Amino acid sequence: MPANAARLLGKEGVKTVGDVIDLLPFRHEDRRQMQALAFQAGLLPTCHHVLITKTGNKFFGRAGVFEAVVRHATGLLGQQLTLKWWNMPFMSRVLAEGQELIVYGVIKDTKGRLSMAHPEYEIVKGGADDDAGQIHTGRITPIYRLKGAMTQKALRVAAWHVMQALPESFIEDLLPAPSEEGEFAGMSRSKALREVHFPSSMEKLEQARRYLALQEFYGYQLRVARRKRRVIESGGRRQAGTGELLRDFFNELPFQLTAAQQRCLDEIHRDMASGNPMNRLLHGDVGSGKTVVAFAAMLRAVESGRQAVLMAPTQILAEQHARNARKWLEPLGLRVALRTGSKREDGDGFELMRGKSSSAKPELVIGTHALLHDAELMHNTGIVVIDEQHKFGVAQRAKLIRKGDTPDVLVMTATPIPRTLTLTIYGDLEVSTIDQKPRDGVKIITKVRPKTKLKEAAKFLREQIEEGRQGYIVYALIDESEKLEAGAATKGHEEWSKLLAPCEVGLLHGRMSAEEKEEVMKRFRAGKLDALVSTTVIEVGIDVPNATVMFIHDAGRFGLAQLHQLRGRIGRGAHTSYCVLFVDDKDEENRQRLAIMEETSDGFQIAEEDLRRRGPGDVLGHAQSGQAPLLFGELLADTRLVRLARQLAERTLDEDPQLLRPALALFRDETVVAEKAQAMMQ
Ligand code: ADP
Ligand code: MG
Repeated sequence: MPANAARLLGKEGVKTVGDVIDLLPFRHEDRRQMQALAFQAGLLPTCHHVLITKTGNKFFGRAGVFEAVVRHATGLLGQQLTLKWWNMPFMSRVLAEGQELIVYGVIKDTKGRLSMAHPEYEIVKGGADDDAGQIHTGRITPIYRLKGAMTQKALRVAAWHVMQALPESFIEDLLPAPSEEGEFAGMSRSKALREVHFPSSMEKLEQARRYLALQEFYGYQLRVARRKRRVIESGGRRQAGTGELLRDFFNELPFQLTAAQQRCLDEIHRDMASGNPMNRLLHGDVGSGKTVVAFAAMLRAVESGRQAVLMAPTQILAEQHARNARKWLEPLGLRVALRTGSKREDGDGFELMRGKSSSAKPELVIGTHALLHDAELMHNTGIVVIDEQHKFGVAQRAKLIRKGDTPDVLVMTATPIPRTLTLTIYGDLEVSTIDQKPRDGVKIITKVRPKTKLKEAAKFLREQIEEGRQGYIVYALIDESEKLEAGAATKGHEEWSKLLAPCEVGLLHGRMSAEEKEEVMKRFRAGKLDALVSTTVIEVGIDVPNATVMFIHDAGRFGLAQLHQLRGRIGRGAHTSYCVLFVDDKDEENRQRLAIMEETSDGFQIAEEDLRRRGPGDVLGHAQSGQAPLLFGELLADTRLVRLARQLAERTLDEDPQLLRPALALFRDETVVAEKAQAMMQ
């Protein structure tokens, strides 16, 4: 490596051969055929090999511009192009007539004069340190992210020399050897890294990216699979139960489980009866009936002499679950305790003073995050259920589970995860899917409407109310404070009270006390309120079957997944339901984006459309975004690699402990990947 390049890199902490290899290029420029391109104005950057024919500084008042006039280095084309650097007078000491440059930028046409402002450039001939042309031009050229005083050229020269000098065996494989045939035949980590630094073709570059992506997924899946095995090895308890409580429960239930609910429940009960701890996801679209399945799972633990715990993300939802549990389970002689930030009820209706507990422990405990701080909980926990698990962080979930002594764990969510992501987000869980709704016949009609149609909407809501139905009116200011949000809802409440008078309109927002919220929900559930103006506190879980109308203000501010969750509050009873998404009058963009909501109520379809629209780029950036957890892998596009990685990981765990250690080092905190993937879904 040339001494000056080494010195520059050393200053930035790039000292060893390994350091250089790890400085991966974040993109490549195809500089194989540049000379043939004429200068042409356009929107996309293009790359040219040019010769400087003239330079100079110009001044416009206080602003100055350094200009270099260039033509193609081959001289075959007579065109001129002016490179411009604003307020960088020192450029006159860097660039000079007679130098050859590679420039990369967008060409602008101003009345026939072509210019390129602040191009990326490199001096390839005539500069202070011009170097072998084969490194910088005439090839697919790596572009590195620069730190401090590093220059693109110095780094590239260093990488070139390292790659030239490096024996094949220096870089050891982290992946099991690929099969003789197939996509990765003949590939190795060493070859892949060489291709990534200095690709021999675009095809080889893509093959190398895929190999390194596989390696990343493998490192990740290895950790996930190992965690899963450890849970299993930690040993669970058999909770087979007697079946008595369940029989009574089902006798009393006003409906029969759907076939899908029954199948999922069987899977859960089978897990619980086995000697291994259950670690299962119950997945089902909004309104598919997860709660009753969870209760039946909890009853099995109670039958087996243990306590059952359920955690929900909001106080309103925890209260709703506790009420249902009491309605259904107290007749069976069970006690249901409620634990929220403001409440400790031990199931016999009396609120207990803090620190004082009743003599017998409640069989079922339902609560919010407050459960995480409950000291007396969990000595005898048979099952932990986490509802709307996507609302909890990975760490919170783990904390609740750790409180128990390897309890069975059931997490529930309605968030539709495209198949491409399940293995990443839920790689350590078994999955049961309720793929059928109890009231498949009930329709939800959705319309996207301009705000100007509010009056007509009000008229429609009034008609529904006259028929005995109820409605939600949602206000939200995404990313604003809870206080502002509450303000918007309060103002909305005044408006709607007038619009709908003399109907009763309630108000619900996050700044109200727990008692106030509960009182409002109670009145709404009992039908004493005809409409409820609310913030997104009602987003998850709320179940009032008589509500058939939902208006969402400023729907354009929401993601599709969240709108789907909100809309899930209606269509829960026997009546056709109606959802209106209000957008700004001229907001064509959102009208189009939200159109999918009019077309389908299928959460999966909506989620995939959401992802397609956002594109993988802005949800899980790659090397470009600096600290992405995955440099090469694209979670959405590389499904096949994710699956292959999982297979390889299982095989390594089974038969190749030697590979384990270096491959585990690929990820220090693999939860980042799961959290990111989960964030994509919200
Ligand atoms: P989610 O899956 O969204 O949590 P819930 O558990 O809140 O759904 O159930 C939605 C509604 O459907 C509730 O009112 C519940 O009592 C009812 N329900 C659940 N299962 C059935 C069933 N098998 N038949 C009829 N109604 C059901
Ligand atoms: Mg629910």
